[in-house]
Amino acid sequence: MLDNLTQRLARVVKTMRGQARLTEDNIAEMLREVRLALLEADVALPVIKEFISRVREKAVGQEVIGSLTPGQALVGVVHCELTALMGGEQAGLDLATQPPAIILMAGLQGAGKTTTVGKLAKLLIDKQKKKVLTVSCDVYRPAAIDQLKAVTAQVGAEFFPSTPDQKPVDIATAAIDYARRHYFDVLLVDTAGRLAIDEAMMAEIQALHAAVKPVETLFVVDAMLGQDAVNTARAFNEALPLTGIVLTKLDGDARGGAALSVRHVTGKPIKFTGVGEKLTGLDEFFPERMASRILGMGDILSLVEDARVAVDEEKAKAFAQKLKSGKGFDLNDFKEQIVQMRKMGGLSSLMDKMPAQFAQAASQLQGGAEEKAIGRIEGIINSMTPLERAKPELIKASRKRRIATGAGVQVQEVNRLLNQFEQTQKVMKQFSKGGLAKMMRGMKG
Ligand code: GDP
Repeated sequence: MLDNLTQRLARVVKTMRGQARLTEDNIAEMLREVRLALLEADVALPVIKEFISRVREKAVGQEVIGSLTPGQALVGVVHCELTALMGGEQAGLDLATQPPAIILMAGLQGAGKTTTVGKLAKLLIDKQKKKVLTVSCDVYRPAAIDQLKAVTAQVGAEFFPSTPDQKPVDIATAAIDYARRHYFDVLLVDTAGRLAIDEAMMAEIQALHAAVKPVETLFVVDAMLGQDAVNTARAFNEALPLTGIVLTKLDGDARGGAALSVRHVTGKPIKFTGVGEKLTGLDEFFPERMASRILGMGDILSLVEDARVAVDEEKAKAFAQKLKSGKGFDLNDFKEQIVQMRKMGGLSSLMDKMPAQFAQAASQLQGGAEEKAIGRIEGIINSMTPLERAKPELIKASRKRRIATGAGVQVQEVNRLLNQFEQTQKVMKQFSKGGLAKMMRGMKG
């Protein structure tokens, strides 16, 4: 999948070396390669544009941490944004309903609906021990009902028979009734597809949806169709309240762009992907894993992850060491903490690594966590003499005025900073007395 993206990125990663920061200039070539690879993969243009600008925004100015090369760091950003593009979190089926949980399958003919019903039944039976009933409302292709019957038998689910002379809504209603009376956990409703979207088809599936009130309405779409897949998904999504998407034939899809665009275009999560014709070929969809697969750079991604962890740990250790040495927490440390927070992507990312009390004190600084405010705090601290930084209690009115003038701020701002520092210092003292072991644990986590 998206092999070209992997190759293109790999090439640029090799050439981007020896720079400490990601800048507009040094990422330009890499972004051009990403754009080309996405175009080749048949990702929709607006999606590409937004994606590239997000990557640029996240990457520019970012410091290249630890032993990474800039290229590797950028791969980290691309990975993050690819994951976000595909929905971020994994979205599972919502089966927490009064049984039977009804799942309606929609899609064009040949998309892989019937096969997917079989695959999904198998997954629910094998993994979740569900009692599954299937039914076909496809009264236009007589072979469709037989096909579902055969598939159902293969996976050990029960099949609710129907005939081409029945109305789809009647079939579904009877199946629901049967599922209720026989305590089925899940009812999978297969529907008719057409070769292209038409009004009659949409009207029928809307009526069916209204009658069966499914908890899940899954749109099954052939990933090989590329942008057409995405357009069809959009049309169905406008006609039906879809709850998720199943991308089939991902095995045969060298381009894979649909996987990247469909979530963005419909706002609905990809819940499963189909690979191969065998009934075991249905996977739950994990955006993060898919992003890794697309990038095909497992080694680099691990490097990026390791570098992040290493930097965090190194800093936490040095900080803990300082407290342990009994040397008081002074304004130099305070400044250092603030600088580190900025490097590590703001307070929030650091906070879950901190012991609760410190995080709480730090959160009072949250309002000033933006670049500018941090810059001012640094400016104020820089205007102090080393002695003042080490012994802030020396800072009385006249020194405050001098510091304020030096930093180009009001005296009140110096006061505010000293107050914040004092609060933090109190917390640090508590920790240096009794809570060190606890804090070390908290910081490693
Ligand atoms: P329906 O018309 O939407 O019910 O589609 P079918 O379930 O009949 O599938 C159409 C064709 O696609 C069949 O030949 C399936 O074996 C094949 N198919 C379905 N899903 C997949 C898949 O994930 N990968 C591959 N390679 N083939 C698939």
